[in-house]
Amino acid sequence: MDNKIILDGQKVSTHIREELKPRIEALKANGVVPSLVTILVGDDPSSATYVKMKGNACEKLGIKSQKIHLPKETTTEELLHTINELNNDTSVHGILLQHPVPSQIDERKAFEAIALEKDVDGVTSWGYGQTALGFGLYPSCTPAAILNIIDFYNIQLQGKHAVVVGRSPILGKPVSALLLNRNATVTTCHSYTNNLPELIKQADIVVAAVGKPEFIKGDWLKEGAVVLDAGYNPGNVGDVEYSSCYEKASAITPVPGGVGPVTISMLLKHTVDAAERTLN
Ligand code: NAP
Repeated sequence: MDNKIILDGQKVSTHIREELKPRIEALKANGVVPSLVTILVGDDPSSATYVKMKGNACEKLGIKSQKIHLPKETTTEELLHTINELNNDTSVHGILLQHPVPSQIDERKAFEAIALEKDVDGVTSWGYGQTALGFGLYPSCTPAAILNIIDFYNIQLQGKHAVVVGRSPILGKPVSALLLNRNATVTTCHSYTNNLPELIKQADIVVAAVGKPEFIKGDWLKEGAVVLDAGYNPGNVGDVEYSSCYEKASAITPVPGGVGPVTISMLLKHTVDAAERTLN
């Protein structure tokens, strides 16, 4: 019998969104409409699609969503000005600057300008630092989604060896920190890592956050490993080779329908959390 678990992101996502509905109603009854502003700079079509998906998800749930689309020639100063206005606008609870921004902009400086209490995607160094120390309000949404999937399916982390492939500030590093805080033993790999397949072979849990289509192969996995694929590449493929990894894994996220929808749900949840904090 096939005991494999497909870690169904749609199912996890539906669960999270159902829990948010009464909270949003309660906020509205108190005169607060949770509100997320996404800032898109330039014309990158994938970014535009992500922003649209986030906006649609907000509206479906009754969260106010505003999209600010700035031209591709926008300077760092102009972007900082927009962010500061949003920081000062008490009707805005969450600010999301869509990554990547055009190369003339200092993206780090722009991220740092977001007020901590509105940093619903954990992009500021304060937000990241607090996440790493274990008391962050809003971890980055994709890492938070990965932990939510793990918890939804009751996957044990304590004492397990987790190998994270990727160390970006919004994904690999914070997910490594979240796993470490949950008492997993974490190995974080990157483009300078030697013997990657041998390291992955030791993993009870593999998190793929590489940005390379079908990069991780099934024969690199230990039999029964749990595979969480954060990758989302053109052609709707993840960072793991699904067919061969499916054979070896005890549980695996599909792409699409795995980490992606839960990431959006975490953004919605963090926006609602931020709105609730304005009442306290
Ligand atoms: P990124 O900033 O490009 O980072 C990729 C990481 O992979 C880097 O740390 C890089 O190492 C590492 N890497 C590259 N080649 C490698 C190799 N040969 N061996 C080992 N490590 C290697 O990407 P990201 O923003 O973290 O995104 C990663 C993936 O997740 C992408 O597919 C992206 O589309 C997806 N993503 C999905 C969601 C979602 O909602 N599902 C959200 C965000 C991102 P260095 O640090 O040494 O360069």
